[in-house]
Amino acid sequence: MDFRLSLEHLALQKKARDFVDQVLVPVEMECELNDGLSAETLARLNPQVLEWGFNAINHSKEDGGQGYDVFEQTLINEQFGRVTGAIWDVVWQPAWPLRYATPAQREEYLLPTNAGKRRDAYAITEAEAGSDPRQVQTTAVKVPGGWKINGEKWFVTVGDVADYFLVHAHVDGDPDLPTVFFVEKNLPGVILKRTPLYTHHFAFKHPEYIFQDVIVGEDKILGEIGQGYNMTKDWFVEARLGIAARCIGGATRALEEANDYAANRKQFGQSIRDFQGIEFMLADMAVEIMAAKSMMYRCAWDMANNYDRKLAHARISACKLYCSEMVGRVCDKALQILGGRGYMRENAVERLWRDTRVDRIWEGTSEIQRVIIAGQIKKRGIGVYTDWF
Ligand SMILES: Cc1cc2nc3c(=O)[nH]c(=O)nc-3n(C[C@H](O)[C@H](O)[C@H](O)COP(=O)(O)OP(=O)(O)OC[C@H]3O[C@@H](n4cnc5c(N)ncnc54)[C@H](O)[C@@H]3O)c2cc1C
Repeated sequence: MDFRLSLEHLALQKKARDFVDQVLVPVEMECELNDGLSAETLARLNPQVLEWGFNAINHSKEDGGQGYDVFEQTLINEQFGRVTGAIWDVVWQPAWPLRYATPAQREEYLLPTNAGKRRDAYAITEAEAGSDPRQVQTTAVKVPGGWKINGEKWFVTVGDVADYFLVHAHVDGDPDLPTVFFVEKNLPGVILKRTPLYTHHFAFKHPEYIFQDVIVGEDKILGEIGQGYNMTKDWFVEARLGIAARCIGGATRALEEANDYAANRKQFGQSIRDFQGIEFMLADMAVEIMAAKSMMYRCAWDMANNYDRKLAHARISACKLYCSEMVGRVCDKALQILGGRGYMRENAVERLWRDTRVDRIWEGTSEIQRVIIAGQIKKRGIGVYTDWF
């Protein structure tokens, strides 16, 4: 086994870090103070994403993406996780199920989205359907020439700037027929209900939308009727790994900040890092990151090398669970080391502490990850997690 990164991987990692430091970090305080980024800032950042070659890192070169494998994407996402305010989301990674687009949908949606000319938002969650997507109430009913969609979606991330949605609806209200539809935002009957405020100050919003008798054409189904949930669940494998990677990036930045602060801050005539109470926190943080990162690189490497997808799904649930809980512990300690300054929003540590809380909730809560892991143990035995194969 050789666990070292290749020179190419190190160069990619450095490029992603430089991009984050030079392009994304400078707008962090704008995002924090205004609860988002202005249209002017977004218009300025968009061409830089293209210039640096970070648009659609998760799609193939033929489809206008960067063609990075999952390990390379993980290296990039880890660096993206360093920035606060989820400004990493400015760097679009269009929904992975878009690769199931028909040739016509590819021209209309996938290619322009990968090129940064269009933006998608994925709408599954509803008031009654969170962890349990079978409770989705949004319906799609066949009408002459197309489909009529009725329902309401919550937490539509990037819904403020997206120009189309991928709406998860049940055909004829049948939970066995979950299906994803392309819905243009400017269609009659697409109504912005409200834009709630959240714990974090995110680059974009998570509005709620009503779909009232919205008519879409027959050609607006992504994939097959009834395949919506499987397609989305399959995408969650990569999406959860992406979250885990960003958690590692966020935790690493928090540790860097805390380590620097502890070296320079003097109380009682000495650096606070010389107090064992502080030093031990730094040690625990470093060990936690090391453990989480080893797990994440293993999962990412397996995925990039076409490892059995079901096993990858089982292990990546564990990775998402561990990394998202780890970043919470690390940021909390970092905040404690910064003392009162750690509680000031102008400090990255405070923002990371808030920003990363959602990683235990979206793309499957920590409890849902445990449900998956426990189910895998029952089905396949503990070796999925404890053995090395
Ligand atoms: C900032 C943000 C952005 C989001 N963006 C999007 C988006 O773009 N598109 C989208 O579709 N959704 C999005 N979501 C929704 C997100 O995926 C859901 O919030 C998440 O799936 C949990 O659903 P819920 O909030 O309804 O909680 P619930 O499912 O109601 O869960 C409530 C609590 O019960 C627990 N629970 C539920 N079932 C079980 C079980 N079987 N065993 C043990 N405990 C259980 C949960 O873990 C949780 O603690 C977003 C959410 C947030 C906060």
